[in-house]
Amino acid sequence: MAQKRDYYEVLGVDKNASEDEIKKAYRKMAIKYHPDKNPNDPSAEEKFKEAAEAYEVLSNAQKKAQYDRYGHAGMGGAASGGFNGGNMNMDDIFSQFGDIFGDGSPFGSFFSGGGGGSSRRARRGSDLRIKLKLDLEEIANGVEKKIKVKRHVTCKACSGNGAKNGTELKTCGTCNGSGQVRRVQQTMLGQMVSTSTCPTCNGEGKIVSTRCDVCYGEGRVLEEEIIPIKIPAGVAEGMQLSMNGKGNVPPRGGVAGDLLIVIEEEAHEVLHRDGNNVVYDLYVNFADAALGTSVEVPTIGGKARITLEPGTQSGKILRLKGKGIKELNGYGTGDQLIHVNIWTPKTLTREETEILEKFRTAPNFHPKPGKSEKGFFEKMKDFFN
Ligand SMILES: [Zn+2]
Ligand SMILES: [Zn+2]
Repeated sequence: MAQKRDYYEVLGVDKNASEDEIKKAYRKMAIKYHPDKNPNDPSAEEKFKEAAEAYEVLSNAQKKAQYDRYGHAGMGGAASGGFNGGNMNMDDIFSQFGDIFGDGSPFGSFFSGGGGGSSRRARRGSDLRIKLKLDLEEIANGVEKKIKVKRHVTCKACSGNGAKNGTELKTCGTCNGSGQVRRVQQTMLGQMVSTSTCPTCNGEGKIVSTRCDVCYGEGRVLEEEIIPIKIPAGVAEGMQLSMNGKGNVPPRGGVAGDLLIVIEEEAHEVLHRDGNNVVYDLYVNFADAALGTSVEVPTIGGKARITLEPGTQSGKILRLKGKGIKELNGYGTGDQLIHVNIWTPKTLTREETEILEKFRTAPNFHPKPGKSEKGFFEKMKDFFN
């Protein structure tokens, strides 16, 4: 057995580190060396376990005091309680994560497997993830949707414990209800104890003697449910909304996971979203641009009439205030921007050609961009300022 490293050194904190600093340091290590992130690196798993072990001790005031006083020698035997001389198994480590990462755990799936090493902690069911397609109008104003989901819910026949008519469960004889079995090994360095999940009850500590005949002992059944959900205005592609407790219930009781709704934006035929603004490309013919006109443009959920002044230049941007998308959780609303494009004919009849030839050298047809006709770059600058 290799020489054990100092726990403070393992977490990279000094001896006077606060509880919070220790927690932060461990969090960083756990993310860095997580086995899922380092699938082909056995040394990462070792480091991961080493950090977990250090945290287990340093996060517990009593164990920490003992370690500070006696070092590693103080950590063996009965005094260390559930912690057995550095033989934490993965389940134990993951059960720490509830404290470390809270609800936003990047490794949430480890909680959803049910069981694990911790029978004290309320078990949590898995999350359900669904995609929800919304069109631009629904995004702009917010919408109420009814979504159909298939989820595991508590079995009513047994109230979720899995036993026939909900009768009492029996304490597991293999582990005497602790959910864990211990194995004691004699080694050259003395006794080593390792803990693992009880194979008889899968860590639950209790067993069903006669199974519920509705859920076959699982304590939950699959049900289709219609869930009303309010989508706020201003959501965007890839955003995730979550509804607490609307995911799956774990087998034989516990807290339901969440329902995660992932937003998908359906592209609009002619309107394009740019943040909270909506952009429309308007094409007008040269005569309309020169003489001025009034045109109808599509807006979200309607139409609007706009006026083009005589002499409108290509590239002009008109603004319909407040005709864009409501800001998510805010009070503002975006605008609709109308980007004017002058259409140049691609083919001409002989007559059209003759008329245009006459204008080719006409003084008014000669480009004379003034101060008000800004170039592309200046327009962009104005736009973003
Ligand atoms: Zn058991
Ligand atoms: Zn049942």
